[in-house]
Formats: sequence, C-alpha cells, structure tokens
Amino acid sequence: TYIVTDNCIACKYTDCVEVCPVDCFYEGENMLVIHPDECIDCGVCEPECPAEAIKPDTESGLDEWLALNTKFASMW
Ligand code: SF4
Repeated sequence: TYIVTDNCIACKYTDCVEVCPVDCFYEGENMLVIHPDECIDCGVCEPECPAEAIKPDTESGLDEWLALNTKFASMW
C-alpha cells in the first residue's frame, strides 16, 4: 500500500484523489489518507502529489503514518 505522510497536512491539492483508479483516498483530520486495504499499489498517485507526501510502505519509519492512515480511512 501507499501511505500519506506529514507533507499532506493542510495541503489543498487533490491531484492524488483524481488519479486514483480505486478511489481509496479519504479525508483525515487535517490531511488526506489512503485506505491500506483498498489501495492496489499502482503507484500512480505518488508522482502526482505536489507536496511529495505519498510514500510506499516499503520505506522504513512509516509505521505511525500507516496506523494513522488506517485509522482515519476506516472511519468512513
Ligand atoms: Fe490509489 Fe494507486 Fe495511489 Fe494506491 S497507489 S492510493 S491505488 S493511486
């Protein structure tokens, strides 16, 4: 899955939402989040993000952000 991280906070762009083929972006508290169970790992959103906030979960040190994405995406 891909994960939305801190650079998304207060970002006003929604380029990522527009390109996601499975609509797995959701509104978090002050940022967007990706639903980890719905993301098909296509990677299309990553280069579209102007804030470079979207990262693959293969990157290290993102456990807290994955938990936060899961929490807020699951509220919908
Ligand atoms: Fe959507 Fe693909 Fe990005 Fe996952 S990697 S959030 S499926 S655009």
